[in-house]
Amino acid sequence: MRFLAVLLLVLLPCQPGFLPAQPPPQTWRLVLAGETSLVAEATSRGYAAFPVSALLSLGAQLAYGGGEVTARFGGREIRFRVDSPGVVADGRPLMMGNPVYAADGVVFIPAEFLSTVLPQALGGAVSVDADARVVWAHPAAQAAAPAPPAPAVSLPAPPQQRRLVVIDAGHGGVDPGAVGPAGTREKDINLQMARRVVEILRQDPTLDVRLTRNRDTLIALRDRARFANAWRAEGQPALFMSIHCNAHPSRAETGFETFFLSEARTADARRVQQMEDAAEQYEERSTARTPLDFIMSDLRQNQYLRESSAWAQLIQDRLRQIHPGPNRGVKQAGFAVLVGAFMPAVLVEIGFISNRGEEQLLLDPAFQDRTARQLATSVHDFFRATEGRNAQAGN
Ligand SMILES: [Zn+2]
Repeated sequence: MRFLAVLLLVLLPCQPGFLPAQPPPQTWRLVLAGETSLVAEATSRGYAAFPVSALLSLGAQLAYGGGEVTARFGGREIRFRVDSPGVVADGRPLMMGNPVYAADGVVFIPAEFLSTVLPQALGGAVSVDADARVVWAHPAAQAAAPAPPAPAVSLPAPPQQRRLVVIDAGHGGVDPGAVGPAGTREKDINLQMARRVVEILRQDPTLDVRLTRNRDTLIALRDRARFANAWRAEGQPALFMSIHCNAHPSRAETGFETFFLSEARTADARRVQQMEDAAEQYEERSTARTPLDFIMSDLRQNQYLRESSAWAQLIQDRLRQIHPGPNRGVKQAGFAVLVGAFMPAVLVEIGFISNRGEEQLLLDPAFQDRTARQLATSVHDFFRATEGRNAQAGN
């Protein structure tokens, strides 16, 4: 406890008497036993986050190891993993819209952890006013809180409806996509991969798995999402994955990355978006581009955005287990193929066809099989996480 007290002293930037009357808006106030700590939100990743050490100011004890951070509040335990949006609270999986990340040796947790996850995880041991950005810890309640019973053996009831999974093989027909140094056409790899993923997913009878194209044909980018919407029944859980191979003017570039729909955040994301959207030049009638602002303002789409981001992270987590890398991470861009899909939607770039070595890897049936398995597993990961969360929310 003395160790904790010393840490608290180090971490408390302000004693109560010195608190400004009106803290700046992007600052959280963490209150423990009448003492307030200020924690500034970091936004370098495009979403609000805070250093995990701030949890010390709420009475947590932190332990690091095995790529995980464990925060203990009395008898309660919350575990995080860097690069994952998943949180395990007393054995229960919870999902955030953005991943935990590390920068300059500091682990950052999305701010929604404070507003949403912490109250769910700790119940009465914290109170949160998310609008005012204040968290009050109640150490007595933390200490008194018995560890909750192990999760009941009965898992969430199986969904009434089969869940729709739409797999889209990028490019096709007159649009070859990127072409590798040895002449490999992206459209062919994409189709092989998409077929493998579908074959694996169709072994699960709870899924209704569709391909946007099953042969070498061109489908307009916008029609791919329209098909997906048309296949989806009212209220049916659904996912949309577009499979691509990356290309770069520098043939040295390698690795894998997953995009979800948003405004392109970086020059590199804009490069990939321009490359993938170039397929529109092959389309006979070019439809006016839907303003992304309009789509993004749709509340329904915002929910999909959170889920798309979480799924993209699950995909990266799976691919890095089998891919030589590097893991280029989850990125955001406004791909035409994803605009208008009214379901969580991602575009995965499984490797650089422009790199001589990775082109050969993409052609390798064993690599294709491993990659397809990981992509298929990410679908199961996603439904398990979201359905677990919904079941908890319904309790
Ligand atoms: Zn492509």
